[in-house]
Amino acid sequence: MTEQEIKDVVRGVLQNMGTNQGNASKAATAPSSGRQMGIFVHIEDAIAAAKKAQKEIQPMPLEFREKIIANIRKKTLENAKTLAEMGVEETKMGNVGHKILKHQLVAEKTPGTEDLTTVAWSGDRGLTLIEQGPFGVIGAVTPSTNPSETVICNSIGMLAAGNAVVFAPHPGAKNVSNFAIDMINRASVEVGGPENLAVAVQNPTMEVSKTIFSHKDISLLVATGGPGVVTTVLSSGKRALGAGAGNPPVLVDETADIKKAAEDIVNGCTFDNNLPCIAEKEVIAVDTIADELIYYMEQVGCYHASKEEVEKLTNTVFTTKNGRQILNRECVGRSAKVILSKIGVTVGDDVRCIIFEGDKKQPMIDEELMMPILGIVRVKDVDEGIETAVELEHGNRHSAHMHSKNIENLTKYGKALDTAIFVKNGPSYAALGFGGEGYTTFTICSRTGEGLTSAKTFTKSRRCTMCDALCIR
Ligand code: NAD
Repeated sequence: MTEQEIKDVVRGVLQNMGTNQGNASKAATAPSSGRQMGIFVHIEDAIAAAKKAQKEIQPMPLEFREKIIANIRKKTLENAKTLAEMGVEETKMGNVGHKILKHQLVAEKTPGTEDLTTVAWSGDRGLTLIEQGPFGVIGAVTPSTNPSETVICNSIGMLAAGNAVVFAPHPGAKNVSNFAIDMINRASVEVGGPENLAVAVQNPTMEVSKTIFSHKDISLLVATGGPGVVTTVLSSGKRALGAGAGNPPVLVDETADIKKAAEDIVNGCTFDNNLPCIAEKEVIAVDTIADELIYYMEQVGCYHASKEEVEKLTNTVFTTKNGRQILNRECVGRSAKVILSKIGVTVGDDVRCIIFEGDKKQPMIDEELMMPILGIVRVKDVDEGIETAVELEHGNRHSAHMHSKNIENLTKYGKALDTAIFVKNGPSYAALGFGGEGYTTFTICSRTGEGLTSAKTFTKSRRCTMCDALCIR
């Protein structure tokens, strides 16, 4: 999708809502001012309520789960603009138009109960089935970068599988996350389902998360976030799914359609100001086409920073905490214009991305930034490019992308990077089903290997054997 196509889709969504971008709050249900369904003061009460709701949902027909899910999808579409605006306002990160699209994607492309399949063997000794049953109550940690998108996407998949979920949202995104949880419960109650299928507390803290991680009534943990939280859940002693950090490289070789590669890379990198974990975070270009690539990137809204500006940017996007260099959260998810203004450079809204050429060790290339800044590393050939990409991906095995028409090069890259996501000749978001085939998710289990999660990821395998009967062949 081009930037223009994205704008057209956003405009269409807004028109369907009978509003426009400047007239936000009328668009959908206003944030509820009264009691929020599923939101508790104490975590113990929240877990107990989720346990009760799960016991109610499990025996109900799958058709009924689908009815609830259909209403969650409907409400997500109705509230997409409100959720997008709340997210940007609370976290100060991202872009309202793109966040609307992310919610729309979650509503339309997150798999429901159809994702649960049965495997069967039948023969002389009877019939054996493998059924996918629920875990029970799941503890799910969600990030600040896609807060309500992750809450809704997780809820649909977990509920489709027959679970209830206790969320530990990022404290910096608790309002929009809790708003989404309230919306999910209202969707359930409205069609006759139970309340508290998704729960959280008013004030999520590390202490609350610790309680969730060790609670006897929680049988599966799912962490969507950076390396700290993934390591914590994996050390909990419970079964855990880890959707961790990435630093996706994109390699462009001499056989690529360079103009299209430039457009795709900039579109992917600037989507929601580079917050998606799958988004292009650095470019590796084969020397013979590097100048042409940079030229076309400049044509589609990139600001080419000078050496001095790169130094100033590096000193701005990183800060020091307890002697360690960390990301400056004032820059994460901000637009190129805002980031440039922090180093005294004034540009218009047409500037979407900041580019610069640099060494692979340059910190803005080596680190996962989550902002529209793309360092470009020049390499002599595709093999050096693959080696560089492997180094920059840091073994996260998360996402890597490539532009090339050479099947052998693409294959070598795919094998070497070994990532959960590998987009070829398109923007990174195609992997989420946005302008690409396949379903969507905002929880990509890179660390633990499940890849793009869906309802079946949140199930337990159950073998059900009938001896010497029910084979009617
Ligand atoms: P973050 O790691 O700061 O926070 C994520 C969540 O973990 C929050 O709810 C936070 O409160 C919690 N948390 C953090 N450290 C914790 C600890 N030690 N114990 C318990 N809870 C803890 O991340 P963020 O800034 O909100 O999100 C961005 C990061 O998440 C990036 O690294 C990005 O790549 C990653 N991410 C990955 C995926 C994926 O699907 N793989 C999706 C979104 C984001």
